[in-house]
Amino acid sequence: MAADSLALKQDVAYLASDELEGRGTGTSGNYAAARYLQQRYRALELEPIATVDAVSCAIGKDSADALRRNIESRSGSGTGVTPHARPCEKHFFQKFTPSSQVLAHSSLVRFLGTQNVVALLPGTDRELRDQYIVIGAHFDHLGRLTFGALDPGAGDAIRNGADDNASGTAAVLELARLLSRRPLKRSVIFANFTGEELGLLGSQFFVEHSPVPLEKIVAMLNFDMVGRLRDDKLIVYGTETAKELSDILESSNTTPVLKVRAVPGGSGPSDHSSFYNKNIPVLHFFTDLHDDYHRATDDAQLINAAGMARVVDFAERVSRRIGDRPSPLSIVRHAAPPPIARASSGSRPYLGTVPDMATVDAGGLRISGVTPGSPGDKAGMRAGDVIVQLDGKTVTDLETYAQALYARKAGDAIAIVVVRAGERVTVNAILGKRE
Ligand SMILES: [Zn+2]
Repeated sequence: MAADSLALKQDVAYLASDELEGRGTGTSGNYAAARYLQQRYRALELEPIATVDAVSCAIGKDSADALRRNIESRSGSGTGVTPHARPCEKHFFQKFTPSSQVLAHSSLVRFLGTQNVVALLPGTDRELRDQYIVIGAHFDHLGRLTFGALDPGAGDAIRNGADDNASGTAAVLELARLLSRRPLKRSVIFANFTGEELGLLGSQFFVEHSPVPLEKIVAMLNFDMVGRLRDDKLIVYGTETAKELSDILESSNTTPVLKVRAVPGGSGPSDHSSFYNKNIPVLHFFTDLHDDYHRATDDAQLINAAGMARVVDFAERVSRRIGDRPSPLSIVRHAAPPPIARASSGSRPYLGTVPDMATVDAGGLRISGVTPGSPGDKAGMRAGDVIVQLDGKTVTDLETYAQALYARKAGDAIAIVVVRAGERVTVNAILGKRE
């Protein structure tokens, strides 16, 4: 059985419709998308798996109840625990209220709670079913925010995020349908993350409050922007985060083959990073950037649904190979990025650029914005600029940027070369002091 490109197309069309206003984290459109996902998982008869309080549920419901009674009796009035809270009840929504420095810049003055949506497909093998594969994608997008948008001139126009990331969300729904027809030996958790565009908030919350022990998660497969397959080219990150993954990918890539460009490391631009940081092997599927990325023009009619179906078919084969193999995967840790603070902490320099974490192959460090009033802002840097040189040193990515920046100190004047609309532009900034 193969992926249904019509179903994929319809899911993207709904999630990226103006009705949901771009699914901005904390908005009603985001909540409507979450409810849609919940409804789909219910229809597939998947199980809710999120608990209000993962910690107390992990020690067992009875001991959690006893603990709570104990706390209530000692404090006299049950501080902080409402009498009706049932911490171990299972939900599809994993609710939380994010706190992030990013939110201060995002003009989200009033920030209410938000939610991941998580569902369990139990494994069929008695020995292996307490091990898990997480299949995930973020479902939030920018909404009407100009923060993070590459077309600030479009003002508060809806950024529908059809490719980013209604496409990955639809891919996860389709994988849920395909895998539930014939479950794996291991269990699968389908996870739709919120808050990715504000800094991987949802996946970070997931790994900090995982409904299952993290050491039982054998792999995480992430889908972020899989809706623009061109020339059969698929980028896969994390191919060397476990010894077995290269072989698994190769044997899963059957006719008609995809031209897979393998990126060995597991850190990078999307939610898989949160899992790799917890020593979980990851794969991230990505059909590359395009000119509509983070702009109001990322719309459903530009999606290649047949291409998405091919990515889903490939990912289903990969999931089956990981989920049914006798032994778990052997994690490979890649060296962490070098420490970036070189100058003494009192004078760490500050430029105020917001790196665009979703960009690869920009030929430098692309920035998705500049903090208003920051040294970078005063120097005239703009969203979409690609930094190629800083203080005479070549910049190719976040690491080389950080190395060049942190070699200087607050108060230093430096020249920065950016590529803007195809032209090299030199700007001069006086570095501020990072608090
Ligand atoms: Zn994305």
